[in-house]
Amino acid sequence: MSADLRGIGMTSQRTRDRLIQRLRHAGIQDRQVLQVMADIPRHIFVDEALATRAYEDTALPIGFGQTISQPYIVARMTAALLAGGQPSRVLEVGTGSGYQTAVLAKLVDEVYTVERIGELQNLARQRLARLGLHNVRFKHSDGSWGWKSAAPFDGILVTAAPEEVPEELLNQLADGGRMVIPTGAAGDQQLLLFTRHGDEIHQSNLSRVSFVPLIKGEV
Ligand code: SAH
Repeated sequence: MSADLRGIGMTSQRTRDRLIQRLRHAGIQDRQVLQVMADIPRHIFVDEALATRAYEDTALPIGFGQTISQPYIVARMTAALLAGGQPSRVLEVGTGSGYQTAVLAKLVDEVYTVERIGELQNLARQRLARLGLHNVRFKHSDGSWGWKSAAPFDGILVTAAPEEVPEELLNQLADGGRMVIPTGAAGDQQLLLFTRHGDEIHQSNLSRVSFVPLIKGEV
């Protein structure tokens, strides 16, 4: 691995391991998720000027008014998605920096990721290629419509909050599949988990969260 990928000082493996320790103390138990997050250099997913803050457990700006999600939330959402067994095909809505995409790419067979901001998508595509992650398909689109031609998905993970859950995403969930999605207006959002059993959909609340809004249309 090249030196800038491996990191040094505030971006080194030791710094990354301290973050993982912190996630463990915060209640993340899924070993696979913790291992993958220990391996992925989060500092290449943010601007160089912010690289030294990449292993703080906080969301950081990635431009265009968007943020890379807080590591704890990435771990929590990924663990919730995987808790029903290893999904094979996963849809992600809101590629953003591509960090969550990379975490998923190391854990499942295929990731389909949709982003409405073209520039963010291009950067994410380059970062995943640098990490040698080739099991990801990218789409520049409004992800509230999901990805019909590739559906159904065993898992759907949404990283921007709609005020109401898009029906089409539930339609694209396979039998036994799970969807993790933040929902609600700014300041009053809940992280929801949906599981499909045949025609029945079960819903549970995971926690209060704060995400950027899901916005219609593409840029
Ligand atoms: N998982 C990302 C989160 C980025 S923030 C990361 O950790 O970097 C949420 C992302 O969702 C932003 O990039 C935003 O542009 C994108 N987004 C918002 N509404 C969307 C929509 N309707 N379809 C696709 N992407 C959307």
